[in-house]
Amino acid sequence: MITTKDLTKVYRSRGREVTALHGVDLHVREGEVYGVVGTSGAGKSTLIRCVNLLERPSSGSVTVDGVELTALPGGERAGRELREARRRIGMVFQHFNLLSSRTVQQNVELPLEIIGLDRTQRRRKAAELLDLVGLGDRARSYPSQLSGGQKQRVGIARALAGDPKVLLSDEATSALDPETTRSILKLLRDLNQQLGLTVLLITHEMDVIKSVCDSAALMRGGRVVESGGLTGLLADP
Ligand code: ADP
Ligand code: ADP
Repeated sequence: MITTKDLTKVYRSRGREVTALHGVDLHVREGEVYGVVGTSGAGKSTLIRCVNLLERPSSGSVTVDGVELTALPGGERAGRELREARRRIGMVFQHFNLLSSRTVQQNVELPLEIIGLDRTQRRRKAAELLDLVGLGDRARSYPSQLSGGQKQRVGIARALAGDPKVLLSDEATSALDPETTRSILKLLRDLNQQLGLTVLLITHEMDVIKSVCDSAALMRGGRVVESGGLTGLLADP
């Protein structure tokens, strides 16, 4: 479902070069929860941002659901194909990235507005999504009235608005306490099972990997140093 081949990213800023990814090969199968773990600076965020082309890789390829995203025209003139492919990739963020001036429902409706659904369709879809994440009764609240876990549920509902086949999660539980973390991870697992959603998550916590992932990769210094099924990985000394 997600394949990266020889993915390399070099950042250039103020005359300095930082190679954040050195030829990363990743293979995430359809319907699995795949975790990428590593310490800060390992290249995890760069990797996940390259997967949905928020960041253009310097070289190598990214293929999601059979579409080679890196082969599609991007940048300012990002073509229809790339926009459509990206719509099928949901993204969840560490700090939720909700608009504080909009209600929960309006936050979830935002991507639906961009797709061009009319008001009635948007309402119905947003209500469905909020029910799915267990927030059906908070549609009219503002983000500031919610707990961290509830905010992340809104973030997840919004990420699901385009009916994605793939959900990318960038440290989705890092700002949450352990109990809330467990409930959000359980939600991701439930969505994975109910919707057949493929989940690629990055985290610096091995516990997150152990509790929800089917497979995982360990990154260090911009490279995948180990990967495979979770049982195999944990069996290693
Ligand atoms: P992680 O998510 O594992 O903490 P990152 O992908 O954020 O790792 O960072 C990998 C490396 O790339 C780090 O050395 C970081 O400083 C560098 N880096 C990340 N983003 C940028 C950027 N926009 N410009 C320059 N260097 C960056
Ligand atoms: P993370 O939690 O992923 O390690 P960071 O704090 O490293 O995040 O990075 C936060 C933001 O700053 C990211 O958007 C990243 O691209 C950018 N960034 C990280 N390192 C650098 C750098 N050395 N130069 C410029 N931007 C950077």
